[in-house]
Amino acid sequence: MFSKDAIYKITIPIPYPIKDVNVYVVKGDALTLVDAGMKTEEAWRVFEHKLKEIGLVPEDIEQVILTHHHPDHIGLLDFFDGDLRVLGHRLLAPWLSHDVRFFDRQKEFFLELLKQFAVPESFASHLDHLDLSLYPRNHPLTSSIQEGDEIDGMPGFTVIETPGHAQSHIVLYNEEDCRMIGGDHLLKTISSNPVLEMPYEGKERPKPQLQYNESLKKLLHIPISVVFPGHKDEFFDPHLLIRNRLDKQHERALTVLKHLEKQEMTVFALCKLLFPAAYQQELLFAISETVAQLDYLEQYGKINKRIENGVLLFSAQRRGDK
Ligand SMILES: [Zn+2]
Repeated sequence: MFSKDAIYKITIPIPYPIKDVNVYVVKGDALTLVDAGMKTEEAWRVFEHKLKEIGLVPEDIEQVILTHHHPDHIGLLDFFDGDLRVLGHRLLAPWLSHDVRFFDRQKEFFLELLKQFAVPESFASHLDHLDLSLYPRNHPLTSSIQEGDEIDGMPGFTVIETPGHAQSHIVLYNEEDCRMIGGDHLLKTISSNPVLEMPYEGKERPKPQLQYNESLKKLLHIPISVVFPGHKDEFFDPHLLIRNRLDKQHERALTVLKHLEKQEMTVFALCKLLFPAAYQQELLFAISETVAQLDYLEQYGKINKRIENGVLLFSAQRRGDK
């Protein structure tokens, strides 16, 4: 029904503002599914129906490769029967473990972080992305894959680690024809959020914007003909888009710096100023985007940070500040 080495896109509805997510069926030596939609009955129905259009049934899928751990990319795993090879970055493993302690630790970490950011307690309910029921429980990670690994059953494709949008993020790159299956690392019409996450090792939280910028720059060094993204249409010439994204982020950081030149601020105060509407509906994304700029400015020594009564306060560096 479709040719060997073709990358076939299946678009599945999700109950998020972005509306749908893409998964890809790749027929190499094995039949591989890249990413696995959201855990809803509707998503599964659409997936089954669209598979049928290319002459396949879910049982034909031999392995699933996950680009990152977000619920809209892994949830459908739960609907697959029987054994399934599931591959992804090692940091993805706990998200498939259904380990209540892991999710509790996540919540504790975020509640503490929100306090430091001066976010009112009433926003604690916004941590619903950590709702255990969104995550699959029937298929653990069977093998972890990392930078440079070749994928069994998918000749030509290797793994590139791209942390930033998620700590577990990878993309799959085919050196022969320069095609890339990109997950949420780079989307054409929307910029990917560098989402805040708990540290997996040590106590320092990751700084996702800084990681994200490095992961974007990494792609500037390799030729890419086409990107098959986790959301919306495939696109060409991603290098131009990458430069554009890096420039825009720098500009956003300068806007934040201007606010901090006027007054010292908490993360929440700054977040409300930057995202006067979005912070109410999508707090975690608005906060992540705010902290992203602060991490960036801090890296370049442009801001001061102090803590008062457990709350972080940021201000612009003045001439003469250390
Ligand atoms: Zn994502």
